[in-house]
Amino acid sequence: MSVTHVSHWIDGKPWQGPAERRGDIYNPATGRVSGTVDFAGPAEVDAAVAAAKRAFPAWRDTSLSRRTEILFAFRELVRAHRDELARIISAEHGKVVSDALGEVSRGLEVVEFACGIPHLLKGGYSENVSTRVDAYSILQPLGVVTGITPFNFPAMVPMWMFPIAIACGNTFVLKPSEKDPSAPMRLAELWAEAGLPDGVFNVVHGGKEAVDALLTHEDVKAVSFVGSTPIARYVYATAAAHGKRVQALGGAKNHMVVLPDADLDLAADAAVSAGFGSAGERCMAISAVVAVGGIADDLVARIKQRVAQLRVGPGDDERSEMGPLVTREHRDRVASYLESGVREGATLVVDGRIHPVIGGERDGFWLGPSVLDHVTPDMACYRDEIFGPVLSILRVDTYEEAIDLINANPYGNGTAIFTNDGGAARRFQNEVEVGMVGINVPIPVPMAYYSFGGWKNSLFGDSHAHGTEGVHFYTRTKAVTVRWQDPSHGGVNLGFPTTK
Ligand code: NAD
Repeated sequence: MSVTHVSHWIDGKPWQGPAERRGDIYNPATGRVSGTVDFAGPAEVDAAVAAAKRAFPAWRDTSLSRRTEILFAFRELVRAHRDELARIISAEHGKVVSDALGEVSRGLEVVEFACGIPHLLKGGYSENVSTRVDAYSILQPLGVVTGITPFNFPAMVPMWMFPIAIACGNTFVLKPSEKDPSAPMRLAELWAEAGLPDGVFNVVHGGKEAVDALLTHEDVKAVSFVGSTPIARYVYATAAAHGKRVQALGGAKNHMVVLPDADLDLAADAAVSAGFGSAGERCMAISAVVAVGGIADDLVARIKQRVAQLRVGPGDDERSEMGPLVTREHRDRVASYLESGVREGATLVVDGRIHPVIGGERDGFWLGPSVLDHVTPDMACYRDEIFGPVLSILRVDTYEEAIDLINANPYGNGTAIFTNDGGAARRFQNEVEVGMVGINVPIPVPMAYYSFGGWKNSLFGDSHAHGTEGVHFYTRTKAVTVRWQDPSHGGVNLGFPTTK
């Protein structure tokens, strides 16, 4: 089997320099190494930032028409190559190809949003703020900006960032996850094919060393990060201390509340889809179902029956609904929560360790779907973000207990309520301390023209990703006050400017 080699993408082409360090890339369905990826140190990060800095003056002055022309071309190319991209993602991440296709589509929505950049970059204009004086505001790009992204959406999460950043006139350095680095490289090639000038989009690979070099680089003006909460907190503090604008999106623990009046079949379908899609490796995955009132036994029975039928297997096998986990270590860590859950008093209703795997190789990073019932807030399986195919069921008596549980949780990314009672749903939407809320929708990922982001430990910084908050994040405003003298001007006046 051939092993691919992934290097950086700097100044419009693959980087040819030597690498001091490299990492292995795995195919999670076989457990074998499928490639190697070069890790950047400060020298490679310097080269990428320097290329982006050189490209900035011309790109910021490129007309909006030309920028949108390139964005439209990129959009068409990504669409044309979406099957190929989905296969690349699946081979390194493990998710099933149909799910990877969904990821590419959701990323494309942000490109489509960015195609409207001429409208989004309009400033304001006020005539006659003083006598024959006008004022206006303009939105200008920041310069070189960077995105640091997680393994679980190697195409979509970078696409939350760079289409808008580039459309706004910035130049970009992406540091994707070292676990699945190939999809971002393909996107870099498609940018070049779309006509993006060299240096506007760059990719450097690696881990902490590459990230630290970006966070502290004097020519990097803003940092967008998506990943786990401890690293998000670190990135926020470090980049802010170095004077950068930062948005750092972190981890999650997403609750799905099921009220007694809900349609239990709809709720069970939703819990299973949102809990086990992408093997639970989604920051918007449902990991805790909160059953309210006396419905828990009935709901758990329906969930159990659906989970038993899930087909687990390689991502590129059309029969598979759920693939392997991303690495062996992650699989083992996720499985450890089944043991700790039982030790702490939960009931293991479905054990994913014995779930059949269809067509998978023995050494793949397999773990089937698991359900833990009678979970309580003190258990590690509830407190920690597991980020795998484990659904916990918590039982409470009232709506008030459910909302208190969610609001006491340190994370606030996504949540959902299942009910037929509009009043209860409205109250939930009003009271819940979470950034993204679904009503009978289990994974309420906002469309590209709204912004994506959680509250509390799920986001550090002020701006959410994409939508108009994305445009604000990647621009700064300038207010201009103008007077063109006409023959009637009033002469010298040492007073403070007022609106007379
Ligand atoms: P991670 O935090 O381990 O890695 C994210 C990025 O940070 C990667 O590029 C990685 O190379 C880098 N990194 C890792 N350790 C570092 C360190 N010590 N110093 C500097 N940089 C470091 O996250 P992951 O495992 O790749 O992704 C899963 C996590 O991402 C989950 O917690 C999930 O909830 C979260 N996530 C959040 C969102 C969101 O929108 N809030 C979206 C997707 C994923």
